[in-house]
Amino acid sequence: PPHSAPPRARAEIDLGALRANVRALRARAPHSALMAVVKSDAYGHGMVPCARAALDAGAGWLGTATPQEALALRAAGVGGRIMCWLWTPGDPWREGIEAGLDMAVSGMWALREVTAAARAAGRPARIQLKADTGLGRNGCQPADWPALVAAARAAEDEGLADVTGLWSHFACADEPGHPSIVRQLDLFRDMVDHAEKAGVEPEVRHIANSPATLTLPESHFDLVRTGIAMYGVSPAPELGTSAELGLRPVMTLAASVALVKHVPAGHGVSYGHHYVTDAETTLGLVPLGYADGVPRHASGRGPVLVGGVRRRVAGRVAMDQFVVDLGGQTVDEGSEALLFGPGDRGEPTAEDWAQAAGTIAYEIVTRIGSRVPRVHL
Ligand code: PLP
Repeated sequence: PPHSAPPRARAEIDLGALRANVRALRARAPHSALMAVVKSDAYGHGMVPCARAALDAGAGWLGTATPQEALALRAAGVGGRIMCWLWTPGDPWREGIEAGLDMAVSGMWALREVTAAARAAGRPARIQLKADTGLGRNGCQPADWPALVAAARAAEDEGLADVTGLWSHFACADEPGHPSIVRQLDLFRDMVDHAEKAGVEPEVRHIANSPATLTLPESHFDLVRTGIAMYGVSPAPELGTSAELGLRPVMTLAASVALVKHVPAGHGVSYGHHYVTDAETTLGLVPLGYADGVPRHASGRGPVLVGGVRRRVAGRVAMDQFVVDLGGQTVDEGSEALLFGPGDRGEPTAEDWAQAAGTIAYEIVTRIGSRVPRVHL
């Protein structure tokens, strides 16, 4: 392991893999720009280094959820186009304008706040109007769209706003053939049409996330917003594994075995004694727990490579540690336990952990805790 990382545990981040994934995704959407979605600390991979690597590899845009994340990118000296979409009343619109962010507007309250900030800043805000085409989450309902578009056009005429984008987000892009996909695309085209007829001239129209980028070329429009696939993780098992999708997992989660000991048959292991050894065996202690993002729901199931052999979590995952039954194998303390990675060495993937924990791989990588140093390679 790199010298800077303490031996306990580390998340190695392969920026070369991230760059290769960006190039692979650009090849899937050759006529569209690519927005590297780096919210939530780049899905747990470290926001600033991942943002820089993505820009290096040809991403034209960066995307975050909160304005604070976008402003943190600027504070780190990251240039280029940055869009952020999750605004709350009282958020720093003026700082966003001054930082040259593209700011999503989903409703009238946001348009009022951003135009007031533009007036105070003495320059127009770059806004991207978000349509709710069926996700039922953020975004403007079709019934309210004409009023929002008209108000945005008026703000443009007053020199307070520049509508740089029209966009939306899918509900079920990870379920190819889901009837909502076509409905959302049709409605998106209608809502874009309406805005353009009202005089909006957007630079970019966009709706595709990773699954749509991978499976639905008609959704690519001017730009695709890729998060999970850029980190080399499949959006859903139904779409294939990362390897089948031609993506390379970026994060490897590794720890050093902290203790190996012999125990007799019939020995309970970890809280609740949900695992009891059925023969004399060796147990290995892995110093990562649910506080580090190892899902407690994977107790008894989570896969780990220890001493070159695939093992499973024995008993419950605790806050800071879990145990594997080494089946009599003797492994040196300090040797490597691989929870997940690209799989080249026989280690599991984040997708395997998602399956073991009954969740999505997005949750596995984004939840790796702050106690685990990210080591960018
Ligand atoms: N666009 C928006 C608005 C999002 O919230 C997200 C993440 O959930 C993405 C794009 C990227 O999604 P994915 O990680 O599936 O590519």
